[in-house]
Amino acid sequence: MIINMHEGATDQEINHVIERVREAGYQAHVTRGTERAIVAAVGSGGRRHELEALAAAAGVMDVVPIAQPFKLVSRQVKPQRTVVNVSGVSIGDGSFAVIAGPCSVESREQLFSTAKAVKAAGATLLRGGAYKPRTSPYEFQGLGLEALRLLREVREQSGLPVVTEVMSTEDVDVICDHADMLQVGARNMQNFALLRRLASTKKPILLKRGPSASVKEWLLAAEYLLAGGNPNVVLCERGIKTFETETRNTLDLASLALARELSHLPVIADPSHGTGRPTLITPMSRAAAALGADGLMVEVHPCPERALSDGPQSLDFTGFSHLMRSLAEPLRANGTASAAAAD
Ligand code: PEP
Ligand code: MN
Repeated sequence: MIINMHEGATDQEINHVIERVREAGYQAHVTRGTERAIVAAVGSGGRRHELEALAAAAGVMDVVPIAQPFKLVSRQVKPQRTVVNVSGVSIGDGSFAVIAGPCSVESREQLFSTAKAVKAAGATLLRGGAYKPRTSPYEFQGLGLEALRLLREVREQSGLPVVTEVMSTEDVDVICDHADMLQVGARNMQNFALLRRLASTKKPILLKRGPSASVKEWLLAAEYLLAGGNPNVVLCERGIKTFETETRNTLDLASLALARELSHLPVIADPSHGTGRPTLITPMSRAAAALGADGLMVEVHPCPERALSDGPQSLDFTGFSHLMRSLAEPLRANGTASAAAAD
């Protein structure tokens, strides 16, 4: 349930409502907007009639049910958009964040040269996989701790915050020590033990949509993070499985737009995994920019044909710099500011 406070409700009135929500057996989450505060009562097993009775409390405008199964993630609970701060770089503040880098960290030279090139082209964050979720156990699994050390080093040198995937609860602490943002990969979107553990870290999380997940399931996965106390969540549409086999996945831009409509969390597009085809990355990125996405995640490799993972969908440095330049027009049309595109 949502308890909408009147404009000008006092702190005392808001605190009283919070207290009563807790007494009724729910968690209370407060959103203070520019005009008025909203108290969301979430949880199970509470006494709903006690919440309904709060309609009569001082400072309360009305008490209404939350329409969606996801609660804290919904715009009904928080109408204003969330801005996630990743070590000084904002995602969701109206700028266009670009996370670029190799699918996997393979060597110092590969990572450092990519960081330099993507930064020069205007990327705002660097990505690189250390622990890789590969379909076959015989494929390259990532350099693990060695890759994490390189990521920490390249962050110091380049100044770009780094994003890397966490696959297991066991690796959470060590990855938190080395990276600025933790990616939950598509295959782990509904790994609830992992989500619960990540909720307790407060680190920014990039939550990819599962290949077969509905928008509702995706937002409910995000709800685990928010309900567990971590509001720093960015959603990433990375393509879903459909009958089409000419593309690796179907980048579902309608769902990206819908997720931004239903939720206050920032949403970015990953056209690399979303299409699997380098020629489609720029057009799909432009489309994402035009429809109001909060940014992109793009795979970039110094020599895609030699990449140990996802080479066929990776851009080289020239391709990435073309992509960045091509964003200026759709971002202007959409009224979005972009440091990269303004260069
Ligand atoms: C990746 O980002 O390299 C990756 C494995 O992504 P996804 O989980 O979307 O497949
Ligand atoms: Mn990849």
